[in-house]
Amino acid sequence: HKPTVIITGASSGVGLWSAKALADKGWYIVMACRNIAKTEKAAESVGISKDNYTIIQVDLGSLVSVREFVAKFRATGLSLDALLCNAAIYMPLLKAPLRSPEGFELTMTTNHLSHFLLCNLLLEDMKKSTYPDRRMVILGTVTHNPDELGGKIPPQPDLGNLEGFEKGFKEPISMANGKKFEPVRAYKESKVCNILTMRELHRRFHDSTGITFTSLYPGCVADTPLFRNHYPLFQKLFPLFQKNITKGYVTQELSGQRVAAVVADPEYRQSGAYWSWGNRQKKDGQSFVQTVSPQARDDARAERMWDLSAKLVRLV
Ligand code: NDP
Repeated sequence: HKPTVIITGASSGVGLWSAKALADKGWYIVMACRNIAKTEKAAESVGISKDNYTIIQVDLGSLVSVREFVAKFRATGLSLDALLCNAAIYMPLLKAPLRSPEGFELTMTTNHLSHFLLCNLLLEDMKKSTYPDRRMVILGTVTHNPDELGGKIPPQPDLGNLEGFEKGFKEPISMANGKKFEPVRAYKESKVCNILTMRELHRRFHDSTGITFTSLYPGCVADTPLFRNHYPLFQKLFPLFQKNITKGYVTQELSGQRVAAVVADPEYRQSGAYWSWGNRQKKDGQSFVQTVSPQARDDARAERMWDLSAKLVRLV
């Protein structure tokens, strides 16, 4: 039978095109999305056949919804062979934080805490799978890393000592480090947490489970709806800038193929790795394992992030 992958945020952009590429490779796709009608239309628009996918509703802005999703997935009786944590929100113009039903800041909840909970819960399902090459993949981004050109634009992520997580991450706290709310920093810090989560999953569970845990930066997919909450002028200029100046631009289709390769192709079976595509200035850049930012490779911070996140999502 076909191997099964859960993809969060498969209704648009990178997630949708990853679903398409994985379906083309012979995978069965569980699309974990908040809007079923939108997701059906999206699947049809890229030509994923109805036999190759199902949709299970989830709102990653709510931890209760994540737990309900896992129960609904288990009720299907499907084996789980791969998990792709892709969904994210980016809301650069917010003046005040939005909150999850639990009271946590919404960008960190959607992008990190929900995926952290999902990975932990679904790890049990993946342990039961007999598929010989099981993988968990979490999307990263270049902007997590101030050591790279694409990550130099302020504000830069700063998890501090995770004081905000430690204090419960609810009103009046909105940032992981407990400092003033900055929506762009919230996005970048959620992506640092995504990478820390992947590295900690690798450190804790790779040897005992044989599962491959990886993250990646698929390139700048400048025309996905991720930027829909930015100024209209930004949305017009950003793709042009990426195409002509940084030359980091990739199409949604190519980004999906890269992500699908990291989920399924034999050459990406390297647990703990963060993949990037080289020579962004040239065409057909080859993939390579890239060093992540100092914050994202700090093992002590990863451990602390893990323990505090586990408390926030009530795993402990
Ligand atoms: P999109 O905005 O196109 O897609 C985001 C997806 O996440 C959508 O399917 C969206 O659903 C879903 N989503 C958002 N909030 C929720 C929620 N509360 N519950 C369930 N699903 C939700 O963005 P991209 O495709 O560009 O981004 C995908 C990933 O790629 C992200 O992790 C991003 O950080 C990463 N990335 C993107 C880059 C880029 O240049 N675009 C570069 C590097 C990394 P809905 O359709 O309902 O809104």
